[in-house]
Amino acid sequence: MTTVRSSGRPVVRSSEAARVAAIYDALAAAIEPKSDLAYGSTFELLVAVVLSAQATDASVNLATAKLFPLANTPLALLALGEDGLAPYIRTIGLWRMKARNVIGLCRLLIERHGGEVPAERAALEALPGVGRKTANVVLNIAFGQPTIAVDTHVERVANRLGFCTTTTPEATEAALLRLTPTQHLMHAHHYLILHGRYTCTARAPRCAGCPVAQWCPSQAAS
Ligand code: SF4
Repeated sequence: MTTVRSSGRPVVRSSEAARVAAIYDALAAAIEPKSDLAYGSTFELLVAVVLSAQATDASVNLATAKLFPLANTPLALLALGEDGLAPYIRTIGLWRMKARNVIGLCRLLIERHGGEVPAERAALEALPGVGRKTANVVLNIAFGQPTIAVDTHVERVANRLGFCTTTTPEATEAALLRLTPTQHLMHAHHYLILHGRYTCTARAPRCAGCPVAQWCPSQAAS
């Protein structure tokens, strides 16, 4: 049964809501909600997230460990240019397109935002290489907004846990925003992504040691 909070946000009642709450409580107890990307500023976070599309966080961290000490502001990266940036990110998938996007977003940050990373979704999504998922990550981590960025891990885990039966990031995000308990909204993205990355993996989920197995309809027989 679905009803509506006085805030206007729909809330799911019943034993299903209790199951969802129990899962989030257990994930919160087991997982430290933080990014695996290395960054020291909001701008570094934005660049790292753009570079991480369809690449591992480890590969991005290896690249930015050399890049950021040399150039970690829009002005410095713009001065480096695509050709200067390329040697640092060549080990990351889709590096040519990402080099173009990073230099393009540096230019727009300087032209439109005084070199600062904007805290508004529309302004973020107007930057080259920044889609809804990247904007959600930056809004959540850097600006403390309760957004839920949906990547392949989040989508898989949400479906396995029976939170939704969705096939697009947009539908998964909407479902998660609807059913996630308010107190867990801020860190839901990290709970689900880290659970998917390290426990509920795509090919061989570690159900035997899973902290939410007792509430999971997809638990594999051990
Ligand atoms: S019990 Fe298995 S399938 Fe379910 S969330 Fe845990 S690891 Fe994933």
